[in-house]
Amino acid sequence: MIYLDNASTTKMYDEVIEEYNNISKNNFFNASALYNKGLESKNLINKSRNTILNSLGATNFDLVFTGSATEANNMAIYNFSNRKNKNFVFSMAEHPSVFNVAKDLQNKGIEVRFAKLTKEGVVDKEHFKTLIDENTCFVSIMNVCNETGAVNDIKELVKIAKSINKSLIFHSDGVQAFLKIPVNLDNLGVDIYTISSHKVNGPKGVGALIVRKGLNINPYIIGGGQENNKRSGTENVAGICAFGKAVSINFLKLKSDYDKIRNLKKFFYNELKNIKNFVCYTYNESFSPFILEGSFLGVKAETMLHMLEEYGIFISNGSACSSKKQGNRILESMGLNFAEIESSVRFSFDYDTKIDDLKYALEYIKKVNENYLKITNKGK
Ligand code: PLP
Repeated sequence: MIYLDNASTTKMYDEVIEEYNNISKNNFFNASALYNKGLESKNLINKSRNTILNSLGATNFDLVFTGSATEANNMAIYNFSNRKNKNFVFSMAEHPSVFNVAKDLQNKGIEVRFAKLTKEGVVDKEHFKTLIDENTCFVSIMNVCNETGAVNDIKELVKIAKSINKSLIFHSDGVQAFLKIPVNLDNLGVDIYTISSHKVNGPKGVGALIVRKGLNINPYIIGGGQENNKRSGTENVAGICAFGKAVSINFLKLKSDYDKIRNLKKFFYNELKNIKNFVCYTYNESFSPFILEGSFLGVKAETMLHMLEEYGIFISNGSACSSKKQGNRILESMGLNFAEIESSVRFSFDYDTKIDDLKYALEYIKKVNENYLKITNKGK
């Protein structure tokens, strides 16, 4: 199997599975229990919390574990949704766990503004600037786009936004940036940041909201007061510890293997660009090295996906979360035409992706693409 859909989810490392099993077996105790074993579980959670904060250079932040990044994004946005006569600013590229919350706010009569994208898929800074005013209370701009790999200059966007209104809250969805590109939260200037475990070789069902110290966030899920009263529900100790394990492994890989991934993507792109009906709008050094999106003109994305599946190659047509939706607001906002959009596929890599995987994938991509064009007579 050649798995090139790592932006939708990643495979857990063996060490991570071992950690999960070990904690499930030996530290299954409720982290709120008063006896020593409960305290041990709580300490394990805190160890994982510190590992994650350290990996993000986040000395000035607290971390709340949640059940997913979707929950964390919802929690961040809805925390500020009861402010009167205020507006919210998002980008057109946000993941549905942000974008659909923005739409929900809009349906409730709250003023919501969407920043346009440039043709390279990042937030258009000039347009963004015009959206911020003294009534903007919350801004959410993703760090790296899950579909295109476009990397927003969050530090600059925070600077622009806060120079117009220093009281606004700046949130960034960091799910596709965390451990994929260098991120230092103390430096970035954001107030709130979201991450997810299963995108970094950890288990599913664990995410986190990382909040600047001193910023008061109310719980989104109310109950027994776990997670410092910020997120109730018995803690997923094994999941959280396995997440911590995955982070410690990938933190080292970010330092040692970052260039390797960049070179892999470059190799892949250089081969793909020789295919005459392939167009790529997500290749240059500014994009995440983990994602490459492009179109095989004349071959519908879903058709390409299933043809490759026959050979054990797994890719995506845009992001997995939106794959059932018609149209594509992100690519449309980048100015792509219908033919490009309907044939757009995403390849996404992992630290474990090997050059031989890519060579194998390329062989079959070329084969199925040519065959399809021949059969449908589009190759002429
Ligand atoms: N944000 C981005 C950018 C994502 O890519 C995803 C997952 O696809 C999410 C949020 C949601 O993460 P989770 O699956 O942990 O809810």
